[in-house]
Amino acid sequence: MTQILSSYIRDAWTAGGGEGSPVHDAVTGDLVTHVSTEGLDLAAAVTHARQVGGPTLRGLSFHERAGLVKAAASALADRKQELYDLSAKAGSTRADAKVDVDGGFGTAMVFAGLARRGLPEGNVVVEDDPIPLGKDGSFVGRHVLTPRRGVAVQINAFNFPVWGMLEKLAPALIAGVPSIVKPASQTAFIAEHAVRIMLEADVLPEGALQLISGSIPGLLDELHGQDLVGFTGSASTAARLRGDAAVTERSVRFTAEADSLNSAVLGPDATAGTEEFDLYVEQLVTEMTVKAGQKCTAIRRAFVPAAHIDSVAEAVAARLGEVVVGAPGGDDVDMGALVGLDQREDVRSQVRRLQQETTLVFGDPERVDVRGADDKIGAFLSPLLLRGDAGATAPHEVEAFGPVSTVLPYRDVADLGELVARGGGSLTASVVSHDPDFVREAVLGIAAHHGRVLVLDRENAAESTGHGIPMPQLVHGGPGRAGGGEEEGGLRAVYHHLQRTAIQGGPDLVERLAN
Ligand code: NAP
Repeated sequence: MTQILSSYIRDAWTAGGGEGSPVHDAVTGDLVTHVSTEGLDLAAAVTHARQVGGPTLRGLSFHERAGLVKAAASALADRKQELYDLSAKAGSTRADAKVDVDGGFGTAMVFAGLARRGLPEGNVVVEDDPIPLGKDGSFVGRHVLTPRRGVAVQINAFNFPVWGMLEKLAPALIAGVPSIVKPASQTAFIAEHAVRIMLEADVLPEGALQLISGSIPGLLDELHGQDLVGFTGSASTAARLRGDAAVTERSVRFTAEADSLNSAVLGPDATAGTEEFDLYVEQLVTEMTVKAGQKCTAIRRAFVPAAHIDSVAEAVAARLGEVVVGAPGGDDVDMGALVGLDQREDVRSQVRRLQQETTLVFGDPERVDVRGADDKIGAFLSPLLLRGDAGATAPHEVEAFGPVSTVLPYRDVADLGELVARGGGSLTASVVSHDPDFVREAVLGIAAHHGRVLVLDRENAAESTGHGIPMPQLVHGGPGRAGGGEEEGGLRAVYHHLQRTAIQGGPDLVERLAN
């Protein structure tokens, strides 16, 4: 009989029926599990969240719920090795797994800390001072935020099964909104285990957390105006969900974090031999190889002054030549596998599109030397560096979601702004320069197209958290192609799950409501 990966619905582990879809080990090709939601009562999950999870969570205060989130995150920290081991089946090296697993529980802990320090006791956030609405001060208005009376459905991408889940789950739970997590099928076995660890810690109240391992047919039909959908994944799926009647007709609060052609900009001052040049090269190689480039924030477009393009391409290619690709856990392995053979085919086909307008300067899309595994069986791919000219359009349109980046020239800061904008809106960019005037012009020129811009130079490099790492205190998201959403961003992520209501009445009314 086929083993189907478990889901957790109505406070019980259960599994879909039928054959399910197989999930294979990214390295060995062995069967890991099957996913299916056939026959699962997804409507009952929504009802349970509303009738049980919501009331129990709202019976606690912001601070108490932050305590639960912290305890759940601690349980994950205590058992992180189990998650690292599972992550290897998805092609992740130990370093990759840490980004996801440690990044996940770390993010939840940061949210818990922010909530304890920044939110009031109780369940009401008072946003502003009384706004006089009459002449003698007896009638005023104020805004309050209270927990929405619905459920948060969280649909995650395959590349961050733990971090992607926790960055949505933690703010929702702190806000008092029960969550239904839907991981991507390919890595749902890692998310499932993380959920198991949190539930075994026995800290979350009934109905607070449910898990659907597999597809969610009809689930959105159950949602209404108190509910939220948080989505991370491709732009095409985002567009489909955004057009669902749940969003267009019933005003379910919807956010999307979609794909993104992120940039790294080298300043004209950063010629070969400067610290910034070396930082730029090193950062690009890191972003291409961590998680085999399967990061929404990875640098896809490396903009360099036209005069530096040869030296940058040569230096990056030389560093990529030192990268050891191989089985996670193997000696000296720097880069693991893509999540699966289908993903590798997808990346190869996107690279073929890019190659119509660019030149390959490092790597072969069809073969790679692999340590401790077989590149025919495992989903291994060489890092691939491309080089385009100023007229190339594909690098501004095509996302190859793997270890792929294109070096592109720019003329001056005005040209740079125009080229960066062609990406249609991105999650993140970095500007690597030690020239304050260039940094100012470049950052202000591209900021509106991004959710986050990181400036890197010799002064801050030692402390820098890195281009590819979203910080829970700061906005993660981006305009346009990046989905138009904002996740993280400190307590705003919690506020997203609260309803803002203007309260009008006597001057002490809101104090009485809040206490
Ligand atoms: P995807 O194919 O769009 O899938 C994302 C999620 O949506 C998965 O859980 C998937 O479930 C689910 N899904 C697909 N069709 C659905 C439908 N009709 N209704 C409800 N859910 C549906 O994306 P992916 O391949 O997992 O992820 C790669 C993409 O995500 C890349 O483009 C990357 O740039 C982007 N990404 C963005 C961010 C960010 O923060 N902006 C972070 C990570 C990744 P199944 O797996 O079960 O089909």
